Amino acid sequence: MERVHVGGVEVSRIGLGTWAIGGSEWGAVPEQDAVRTILAAVEQGINLIDTAPIYGRGRAEELLGRAICEHGRREAFYIATKCGLNWESGRVVSDLRPERLRKELDDSLRRLGVEEIDLYQVHWPDTVTPIAETAGVLAGFVQSGKVKALGVSNFSVAQMREFEAIAPLASNQPPFNLFERDIEAGEEPVLPWCAANDVAVLTYSSLCRSLLGGRLKPGMKFEAGDVRRVDPKFQEPRFSQYLTAVERIGVLARERYGKNVLEFAARWVLDREGVSVALWGARRPEQLGAVEGVMGWRIDADTMDTVDRIVAESVTDPVGPEYLKPGVREL
Ligand code: NAP
Repeated sequence: MERVHVGGVEVSRIGLGTWAIGGSEWGAVPEQDAVRTILAAVEQGINLIDTAPIYGRGRAEELLGRAICEHGRREAFYIATKCGLNWESGRVVSDLRPERLRKELDDSLRRLGVEEIDLYQVHWPDTVTPIAETAGVLAGFVQSGKVKALGVSNFSVAQMREFEAIAPLASNQPPFNLFERDIEAGEEPVLPWCAANDVAVLTYSSLCRSLLGGRLKPGMKFEAGDVRRVDPKFQEPRFSQYLTAVERIGVLARERYGKNVLEFAARWVLDREGVSVALWGARRPEQLGAVEGVMGWRIDADTMDTVDRIVAESVTDPVGPEYLKPGVREL
């Protein structure tokens, strides 16, 4: 397993994502499968486990806590959890009010069964609460010893600057995969800024929410409650365009590296300049079997260019992950 430093601690370059394990947006996941998946990750050298209170409304954090307990060694886990999404009104909204943050931290520590969180990330910016105020509250959590390092997620460069003016920022967690590349673009791209400012980048949806897993077929239906029912990439005619790209990239990966599309897609993320960790969502232990094939090789520049060409030719109507953005809380 390749390793990198986040917040001064050595972590695996593949991190386990526990959104699906929460069981609320990807269909139910039996507790035993969830715990076994987390333990299988650790067995494979993955120590960074990304979670959040919103995943299963506390369930993912609880299951991670159970896995830590079953494993027995707290130090085998680098716990990256989050704060700032409120679901109490039935609708998910950003909520970074100081009193809410204090309650969330204590709830997360209790569910996880630990005394300290390694990386505490602001899940989404809250356009109502000033970022400086949030950073000040979180800095207090570090001083109190309940949090080791601070991170953000879905933050722009301007938002990270505001945060950093008040508290040290260890990481940002944006969406990034070979179809979703906003962090490389724009007037002030997030990825090079993070690299230049020693802010680790933990990419989410590295497998494009399963599109790059290689097992999806045209016409495939997702169960009720599965987030892919509303994800615009999984709706025709776009779905077929993305699947064509996946198929062509799969051929390229096989011909040039003897890899499957999943191994190639994860490697592609790790090989982009400035990426520290690629999060990998899984809900069954065997889904992590492919991690080994991602390690120990690199994608060359010509192949990177070929991927760009394949995506541009195949996906004529691209769409981003903006639908994931939470609502704004009412004042
Ligand atoms: P992802 O990692 O892009 O894709 C995960 C899906 O890929 C799995 O649920 C699985 O789908 C499929 N997959 C995994 N291993 C596979 C294998 N060996 N073969 C074939 N398919 C495989 O999805 P993600 O959940 O969006 O992102 C990963 C993590 O990032 C999340 O769990 C969460 O921790 C984090 N995240 C953060 C944010 C944020 O706002 N900060 C937002 C989204 C996600 P099937 O089980 O259906 O096959």
